[in-house]
Amino acid sequence: MENFKIDIDADGIALVTFDVPGKSMNTIGPKVMDELGELAERLKTDAAIKGAVIASGKASGFCAGADLETAAGFAGAGELDPATRKQAFDEVFKLSKALRAIETCGKPVAAAMEGLAVGGGFEIALACHYRVAADDSKVQLGLVEAKIGLMPGGGGSQRLPRLIGAMAAAPLLLQGKTLRPSEAKAQGLVHEVVAPGGTVEAAKAWLKSGSADAVAPWDKRDFKIPGGGPFTPNGFQMFVMGSAILRKDTYGNYPAQINILKAVYEGLQVPIDAALRIEGRYFVRTLTSPQAKGMIRTLFGSMQALGKGAARPAGEAASQVKKAGVLGAGMMGAGIAHAQALAGIETVLIDVSQEAADKGKAHVKDLLDKAVSRGRMTAEKAEAALALVSATTDYALLKGADIVIEAVFEDRKVKAEVTAKAEAVLADTAVMGSNTSTLPITGLAEASVRPESFIGIHFFSPVDKMGLVEIIRGRKTSPATVAKTIDYVMRIKKTPIVVNDSRGFYTSRCFMTFLDEGMHMLGGGIAPALIDNVGRMTGMPRGPLEMADDVALDLCWKIVSQTAKDLGEAAVAGPTYDVLKTMVPELGRLGRKNGKGFYDYPAEKGAAKRLWAGLAEHFPPTVTRSNPALVAELKTRLLYRQALEAARCVEEGVVADPRDADVGAILGWGFAPWTGGPLSLIDQVGVAAFVAECDRLAAEHGPRFAPPKLLRDMAAEGRGFYGKASARAA
Ligand code: NAD
Repeated sequence: MENFKIDIDADGIALVTFDVPGKSMNTIGPKVMDELGELAERLKTDAAIKGAVIASGKASGFCAGADLETAAGFAGAGELDPATRKQAFDEVFKLSKALRAIETCGKPVAAAMEGLAVGGGFEIALACHYRVAADDSKVQLGLVEAKIGLMPGGGGSQRLPRLIGAMAAAPLLLQGKTLRPSEAKAQGLVHEVVAPGGTVEAAKAWLKSGSADAVAPWDKRDFKIPGGGPFTPNGFQMFVMGSAILRKDTYGNYPAQINILKAVYEGLQVPIDAALRIEGRYFVRTLTSPQAKGMIRTLFGSMQALGKGAARPAGEAASQVKKAGVLGAGMMGAGIAHAQALAGIETVLIDVSQEAADKGKAHVKDLLDKAVSRGRMTAEKAEAALALVSATTDYALLKGADIVIEAVFEDRKVKAEVTAKAEAVLADTAVMGSNTSTLPITGLAEASVRPESFIGIHFFSPVDKMGLVEIIRGRKTSPATVAKTIDYVMRIKKTPIVVNDSRGFYTSRCFMTFLDEGMHMLGGGIAPALIDNVGRMTGMPRGPLEMADDVALDLCWKIVSQTAKDLGEAAVAGPTYDVLKTMVPELGRLGRKNGKGFYDYPAEKGAAKRLWAGLAEHFPPTVTRSNPALVAELKTRLLYRQALEAARCVEEGVVADPRDADVGAILGWGFAPWTGGPLSLIDQVGVAAFVAECDRLAAEHGPRFAPPKLLRDMAAEGRGFYGKASARAA
């Protein structure tokens, strides 16, 4: 076998080393599936083998799951004809069949997991009779398929609930949650947690203990599902409540989650072999959904590629940031300093007073302390990270820094001042970055004495939770500066996208259309509750009015009134302008930050926000009752506005690569993940159909829906953003 090596010791214990040649991490492709079948046969028939341990030959971990590049063949294929469906089933069922054969080979088999075991990797372990994991808080174990629009296909959805009960298995399966080894042990997913390097020995000790059992619990006569099956009081509660909660959380947008719940419900009513076939059928259904295609592409393929520097300009040498400066120790600056310290980068954190700088460092300490208290980091590591941060007012300490990021007030003059002060001590090759969210980079670069090294490095708030960094090229920014900035972003373990300078760059510009459409609806007489409920139904994290409150209405007003100044009143005239003018200058309702926006935010802790009763007086609703056609129309308006703006950004060259656009949308502003991103959504709908729908919306609601020429050309040529357009015509 190519991927598995077998060494049999004197006691007849076979050490099976899983080691896919030429890869840094084990993944499961067609060849591995075939060989798992061969392995099962060998374990069953080789009389010299009394039991086996499956371990990994990779330092990177046990196994990262299915090789999605090869599995993606049927992704998004839609409804298959019966023959193709059978072919797809046979192909994907190979893994399940092989794992079942290992489980029933008649000899005890243990999994020794040093490091990561997720997705199909953890399914291999679940098919073993005993599981040992190495103790390391960084190690992740679990069935992560649902995160990218898939479901387990190697028996995971059937073995996990049989092991720990459907109630405990549901969140792990539906959210793709991973567990640390100690948590996995506490939940009953693994039998033993031992010191790193000791898993094979511990597994062998179990095999030789005399108590090693070669029969899985669910293959025993007296097996009972922990907590009971679907037709028990527990099961009833779990599936009735589970369906309701799933609906509330996902609004039916995710076939994977629906299919997981169905597979568990149906599978638990039959013996395991039939259950595995049920899982296989739902797996094919899930894989062939357009949602799986979009999510695999963006949340797996593109994110991984960008995380490895796919957007780096060709020919630029790799760089490593050793020392970095952050100007402004406020909310963003402190967050950036924290990310740098975690990555082991010496950080100089500067503010106007020592007190303000210290406050920023104290925030870094809070974040580190939290990680320690949650067991995600040792106290020593946190201390070492904190020691990397120097809080100061002294710009001279920036000397020798490879990169400096300013996160001072959003004010051109203040930014120009700190840029000049920093550049006075920086080497010519050092990158000077701005975390501005609204000021054009090319304009800010005018304050720089070396604009080729000046660049936008736009973090999202809160920095410790948000994985995206939007890098903005100014007109004069050099490719070397872009490359260095990408290297820096990768080093602090965030995903970089690269865009060109534009009003609102890429992410804010597209996101604002979501808020704008919500305000158009409000100004157009749609009841506010309806607007925000439908907003959530699209798969966006919250409705447009509540998100506008979070962003701050005065900021929205500032942007709109600035645009009016720059481009003339006509450019902004319309319901949004009117709504914001009423809310901000006239009523002083600034959003969540002053407790008064579209919602009222009671001062008592924990009290829920409520739609402001006065809205009806200022924006009398004429549409207050929901119906399916109305909901569909409002959903389309909210999603298509954003997708159209993303397409305009492509047309104008603000984004060059659809992967930047789609990853940036989901990670940056929470664009409905089920779509795979706004450009994937257009491909999914079909460019021609999308254009036709936008023409209709433009006729009904105004020119903001007018499709750009790029889309008309693409429709005419049958092109999509990712290769050929889908077949659906207008
Ligand atoms: P903040 O008010 O929390 O922090 C700004 C900090 O800069 C303060 O500590 C202030 O004392 C300091 N400062 C002001 N003038 C200074 C000077 N001359 N020298 C040194 N320090 C100075 O603001 P924030 O929310 O952290 O935003 C900072 C920047 O990041 C802004 O440009 C903002 O647009 C941008 N940004 C903010 C967010 C967000 O969600 N808050 C997101 C992305 C980008």
